Amino acid sequence: MGPTLRSLHFFYNHRSSLTEPEDTMTPPKSKNITWHGGVVTRQDRERAAGQKGCVVWFTGLSGSGKSTVARRFEQLLLERGRVSYVLDGDNIRFGLNKDLGFSPEDRNENIRRIGEVAKLFADAAIITTTAFISPYRTDRDNVRVIMPEGTFIEVYINAPLDVCESRDPKGLYKKARAGLIPEFTGISAPYEEPMSPELELRTDLYDVDACAEQVLSYLDKRGFFNVA
Ligand code: ADP
Repeated sequence: MGPTLRSLHFFYNHRSSLTEPEDTMTPPKSKNITWHGGVVTRQDRERAAGQKGCVVWFTGLSGSGKSTVARRFEQLLLERGRVSYVLDGDNIRFGLNKDLGFSPEDRNENIRRIGEVAKLFADAAIITTTAFISPYRTDRDNVRVIMPEGTFIEVYINAPLDVCESRDPKGLYKKARAGLIPEFTGISAPYEEPMSPELELRTDLYDVDACAEQVLSYLDKRGFFNVA
């Protein structure tokens, strides 16, 4: 069945930035390229999936609980029959971003690429969670602006540095304190807290389940599971 007049009207008034390549932050290097829009719209895909695509962007110090909460959140979604995907920390650095290190420039590029990939996942109507330290406010805001309004949900996974350091799940703080890891966020590289995240989860005060439930409830209240 083709799109209804109403859905076409909605589409043309709420075109995602995917239909408007001009609005990306930096112009592409190539000149002779053409953007291909499809006949099937994002709204068509969302209707078929019974959910709205979005990017749930976790940010926080190493050891704050981004991966742990993201994985629990993914389980909760699956139990409810929702399609989701988690883009997580180091995995991306083994493939897509294996040419990048941890200098400020490389961190910028790391987040930019992850943002573009997450945007494509969301456009495919997938609830996409990213679990990266993403320490710079500008980098996170640059991802926010390429996403259609209301579909970028910044979640500050917050635990005090001393709590993260005492957890030290990968032994990285110990190495950083010993001077073995240069530019380690929170120790020798900055972490810029979100100014107004959609959600802040204190993982030192609430357990993993409670934190994951809060994210689910946020999406539920804003109609991400309710597609007309
Ligand atoms: P990050 O992905 O932010 O680097 P991880 O999820 O890998 O952090 O590690 C967080 C550690 O903290 C894990 O060992 C986890 O079991 C523990 N932890 C304790 N309480 C919580 C909580 N409420 N939420 C998330 N993780 C928690």
